[in-house]
Amino acid sequence: MSDHSSLYPNLMRPLDFGFLTLRNRILMGSMHTGLEEERGGHERLARFYAERARGEAGLIVTGGISPNLEGVVAWGGARLSMPWHKRGHESVTRAVHEEGGHIAMQILHAGRYAYTPFCVAPSSIKSPISKFQPRALSARGVERNIRDFVRSAKLAREAGYDGVEIMGSEGYLINEFIASETNQRTDRWGGDFDRRCRFPLEIVSRIREELGPDFLLIYRLSMLDLVHGGSDWSEVERLAQAVEVAGANMINTGIGWHEARIPTIATMVPRGGFRFVTSKLMGKVGIPLVTTNRFNTPEDCEQALADGCADMVSMARPMLADPEFARKSRQGRSDEINTCIGCNQACLDHVFSRKVASCLVNPRACHESTVNVPSQKDRAVAVVGGGPSGMSAALEWARAGAKVTLFERSGRLGGQFNLAKQIPGKQEFSETIRYFETHMAKEGVKVQVGVEATTELLASFEHVILATGVSPRAWQIPGSDRPEVVSYVDVLAGRVDVGRRVAIIGTGGIGFDVADYLTHDADAGGFMASWGVDESLVNRGGLAKSTRSKSYREVVMYQRSEGKVGGGLGKTTGWIHRTTLKQRGVVQHAGITYDRLDDEGLHVTLSDGTSLVQPVDHVVVCAGQTPYRPQALSHPRMVVIGGALNAQGLDAQRAIREGLESVASF
Ligand code: NAP
Ligand code: SF4
Repeated sequence: MSDHSSLYPNLMRPLDFGFLTLRNRILMGSMHTGLEEERGGHERLARFYAERARGEAGLIVTGGISPNLEGVVAWGGARLSMPWHKRGHESVTRAVHEEGGHIAMQILHAGRYAYTPFCVAPSSIKSPISKFQPRALSARGVERNIRDFVRSAKLAREAGYDGVEIMGSEGYLINEFIASETNQRTDRWGGDFDRRCRFPLEIVSRIREELGPDFLLIYRLSMLDLVHGGSDWSEVERLAQAVEVAGANMINTGIGWHEARIPTIATMVPRGGFRFVTSKLMGKVGIPLVTTNRFNTPEDCEQALADGCADMVSMARPMLADPEFARKSRQGRSDEINTCIGCNQACLDHVFSRKVASCLVNPRACHESTVNVPSQKDRAVAVVGGGPSGMSAALEWARAGAKVTLFERSGRLGGQFNLAKQIPGKQEFSETIRYFETHMAKEGVKVQVGVEATTELLASFEHVILATGVSPRAWQIPGSDRPEVVSYVDVLAGRVDVGRRVAIIGTGGIGFDVADYLTHDADAGGFMASWGVDESLVNRGGLAKSTRSKSYREVVMYQRSEGKVGGGLGKTTGWIHRTTLKQRGVVQHAGITYDRLDDEGLHVTLSDGTSLVQPVDHVVVCAGQTPYRPQALSHPRMVVIGGALNAQGLDAQRAIREGLESVASF
C-alpha cells in the first residue's frame, strides 16, 4: 500500500506523550451521536468508533459522558458514575484498540445547560437557551462534583480508555464557574478570576493525582467565549498555564458558548476560521495544543500545523462524513474523501431532536452495523438523473457489484447541488459532487452526460432507477406571467441580472438561500467582522461590534401560511439565517394573500387585512417543487427515488439516503 505521508508531513507526524504515542495529528473530536442512550447502542457505537480507528484517526474522543446524574445533557443521558456503567464502554474501547486506535472519554457536566429540572450551576442564573432555572451548588455540592469527575475518570481508565478529556468550554458547568456572569459565588469557588478557576484546576490536579502520570488528560479550554462577560485573552493564557501545571497533557480549543449568537461550526464559517485563536496560545504553554472548528480537508489541517497554529487538529463531523479521512490522507487520496459540508442536518439537528445522528453525505454513519447491501454482481443497471439521489444510487449499486450506466440530460452532474453551491457559504456542495464523480469513476460507472434517457435506451438494462428530481412549482396569480417574474433557478444559475427591489415568493430553505444570495453585499467585511468577532483578541469574550449593514437591495419575503417565517429551517442553523436576513434589512410577511402583479408592483393583502403594494424590479419564485418524472419513460423493473418520487419535504439528506436505500436495507 502506498504511503504519501510526505504530502502532509506535519499532519502525519506521530505525537509522543512518553507513555503513549498517537500515530498522527488527527483528533476525532467529541460528538454526541445519540447511540450512547439507545438500547444496544454501545455495540453500534463500538462499530462506529472501530471504523474510525481502522480509518487511522490518531485519537478518538467520545461524545460527552456525565460524571453524575445531575450533569447529564438531557434526561436519560449517558453517564459513567457507577461500576456497572463500564460494561458498554468496555466494548467500545476494546473495538478501538483491536483496530490499533486510541480513545479518550470526554467527561462533560452540562451544568445549567442540562435539560432537566434538576440542573445545577455555580449560581442560580438561568441560561437564555434553557427552560430550567439551575440550583446553585452548595460548597459541599461543589466538592462532591469534583469527586464525581475524579471517579468518572477512574472508571474510564478501568473501562479501557487511554485518557479523558475534561470539557471546560462551550458554556457547560466548568465554563460557568470560570465566567463572572454565571459565577456570583462569594465562597472559595467564586470571586476573582483565580478563585473562579479553582473548580477546573482542582478537577485536573485531583484526576492526575488519582490516576498517575501515564493516563492522557486533555483539557478543553474555552479560548473564545463569544458571550458578554467571557474571559479576556490574558485570563485564557493564565488558565492554560495553570491547567498545564495541574497536570494536563494537552489542551484542546473550545470556541463559543452554546448560547453565543455567532455561528462557530456551520457551513458559512470559513474553513479553519478560528485557528487564529489556538495560534495565539502557541508558545505560551509547554504541552501540545489542538485547534478546531470547520477543518474538513487534510490540506487545511496541514497548513494550520505548518504555520505553527497548533500541534494537532480536531475534527468531529468530518469523521462522520468519512471514517477513512486519516487513511486516505496518508495515502494521498484526498480527492476520495467524502467531505463534511458543515450543514448539521443529519448530525447535530438529529441529536437536538433526540434522534440518532447520521450524516447527510454518508447515510451509513452511526448505522454501520445495520446497513445491509446484498450483492448485485454483474447486474446491468441504469440510473436516470445525475443529481444527489441519482449519483448516490449509481455509486451504491456499483459498489454492490452492478454494471451501472448513469444518464444525465444536462451537461454536468450535480443537479440541485449546482444551484446550492452558488449560495455564499454553501460552496462546500461542490465537494460532494467531486466525491461522487471520483468514486463513480473508480467503480466503473459509465456516466453519460448530455444524454436524455429513452425507453428504447433503457430496454437493455435489467433494472432502472429513476432519479429525475424536481421541477420548480409554478406561481399563478393575475400578472404572474409578466417578465419580471423569474424562478430561483434562473437567479442562482446567473441568468438574471436581478434589480434592486425584489419580492421573494416562498420562505422555505430556497427562499432563504435566495434572499441570502441577493443581500450578500451587506457582509462586505467578511465573516468575522460581520458577526462581530474580535480577531485581535483584545476584547472580553472575543466580541466586537458587527460591521454588517443593510443590503442595498430592498428584499421582501412572503408566505401565505401563518406562523414563524423560517420556522422550518434546520434546528441548529435556522437562527443563523433568520438573524442574518433581519440584520441585512430583509422584510418578511406571513399570513398574506397574493392579489396581483401589475405596473405598480406586487399587491398583497397582509394578515391584518390591510393592502400593501411593493414596487418591484423582480419577483423571484421560490414556491417549492413538484416531482419531475418523464411520462414517456417506462421499464418493467423501474424504481423511483428522491424528488422524482416525492418532492414534499425533499432535502439532500433524503435524496442521498434514498440512493443508498435503493440497493440496501437498514
Ligand atoms: P419548501 O420548503 O417547501 O418551501 C416552499 C415555500 O413556497 C413555502 O414557504 C410555501 O409557503 C411557498 N409556497 C408553496 N406553494 C406555493 C404556491 N402555490 N404559491 C406561492 N407560494 C407557495 O421548498 P423549498 O424552499 O423549495 O425547499 C425545498 C427543500 O429543500 C426543502 O425540503 C428544504 O428543506 C430544502 N432546503 C434546505 C435548505 C437548508 O438550508 N437546510 C436550503 C435549501 C433547501 P406558503 O405555502 O405558506 O405560501
Ligand atoms: Fe457534516 Fe452535514 Fe454530515 Fe453533519 S450531516 S457530518 S455537518 S456533512
